[in-house]
Amino acid sequence: MGAKMRIYNTLTKKKEEFVPIEEGRVRMYVCGPTVYNYIHIGNARPIIVFDTVRRYLEYKGYEVNFVTNFTDVDDKIIKRANEEGISAAEISERYIEEYHKDLDGLNVKPATANPKATQEIDGMIEMISTLIRKKNAYEKNGTVYFRTRSFKDYGKLSKKNIDDLEAGIRIAVSEEKEDPMDFVLWKPKKEGEPYWSSPWSDGRPGWHIECSVMSKKYLGEQIDIHAGGEDLIFPHHENEIAQSEACNGKEFARYWMHNAFLNIDNKKMSKSDGNFFTVREIGEKYPLQILRFFMLSAHYRSPVNFSGELMEASKNGLERILTATYNLEHLLEEAKTKELRPEEKNILAEIDSLNEKFDAAMDDDFNTADAIAAIFEMVKTANTKITSDNSKELIEKALDKIVLLFDILGIQAKKKAELLEEEIEKLIQERQNARKSRNFAKADEIRTLLFEKGIILEDTREGVRWKRA
Ligand code: AMP
Ligand code: ZN
Repeated sequence: MGAKMRIYNTLTKKKEEFVPIEEGRVRMYVCGPTVYNYIHIGNARPIIVFDTVRRYLEYKGYEVNFVTNFTDVDDKIIKRANEEGISAAEISERYIEEYHKDLDGLNVKPATANPKATQEIDGMIEMISTLIRKKNAYEKNGTVYFRTRSFKDYGKLSKKNIDDLEAGIRIAVSEEKEDPMDFVLWKPKKEGEPYWSSPWSDGRPGWHIECSVMSKKYLGEQIDIHAGGEDLIFPHHENEIAQSEACNGKEFARYWMHNAFLNIDNKKMSKSDGNFFTVREIGEKYPLQILRFFMLSAHYRSPVNFSGELMEASKNGLERILTATYNLEHLLEEAKTKELRPEEKNILAEIDSLNEKFDAAMDDDFNTADAIAAIFEMVKTANTKITSDNSKELIEKALDKIVLLFDILGIQAKKKAELLEEEIEKLIQERQNARKSRNFAKADEIRTLLFEKGIILEDTREGVRWKRA
């Protein structure tokens, strides 16, 4: 497994050595999106960060079971469905599809499982029943609440004290609850809402219970890493711990990882203030791997600021590296000798020591900022020390190393086969035809295909323009 890794654990507020429950395997759960819209660039941060964590764990030799859920029943989904006059299921299906497209663009590896809340209702009913049986939950008029004070460790993740929390509650306390801190596990349906039958009422689950149930079903009662954005620490993750540990009688997750927030132009991202971008919008201006590179340029526990200027800087930085790898590909074709020569060993040793620097940065709580700095140094070594006079073996080793390290960050550093102009025009025509026959899914598919080959389309009044990224 190589050198030891350290992960900052929100639970202990310390960096700890990573030791999985089962040798060689990692069970990892990341809270997924509520699917009522396109994902925004804030949502993209945990997606990119935890995909990179997974890739690095795999590079270290672990087999990673990576589960992330879809919250596909929720007030926001129902509201959107009512606005559009269609069902909540249609809304969630639509945005799950769009989510997958964005994740493809961001080069995120498919999860081992992507469970949907609405497909796991039986498991939720079972866990809620167990909690009632164990007296950690109770039913009142069709609603089931978790009895928060029955779980003595409540607050251990967020470091909140239950009495302080209670003192801070100003809203009128619903008569039903035994205690204002109790939270909902199941609620009865309201008019026009989707519902499932249960022993307590026709209704739907609360939000927190779904992750406890899906994590248990797909990964087991105890998992290694549970992750998400820092806003989820309280109450979501705190409540997940209470439900899972009360039900299973075991520690739920060993390491809790949380990414800090992304702001735009130094302000909190807010849709109503117009301070907001979807991943799709950014993808129309930049190849999405630039967004990925931008996101990883900061450590995941530091807040990150997004701006047009910073994206341009990321674009230039990435282009510098890609130019170097394309150049190495070219040198490889030109090189005349095959085998490594003794005097080249020093260059190779330099590259290997920069690889170690990369690993050391990543072993230290996934410090992608320092890891990228090590790649930049490697590129500099290649640029200044490698020419077509070198052996193919040296050039290939340098190139493979840069490509491999970038792959851990989820960035494609090798040149893709370029499309010829006539192929591009043909695909654009196909897309226009698809649009005319209102086959927007096909039109989108072609746009994505072109995009993946580095072709950016711009729809103008005069027709479609294209450029190479
Ligand atoms: P949501 O759909 O709002 O539940 O968010 C899905 C994921 O995105 C959660 O892990 C959130 O913590 C995360 N998230 C939302 N907004 C931001 C942001 N501005 N910066 C970083 N992460 C975010
Ligand atoms: Zn969750």
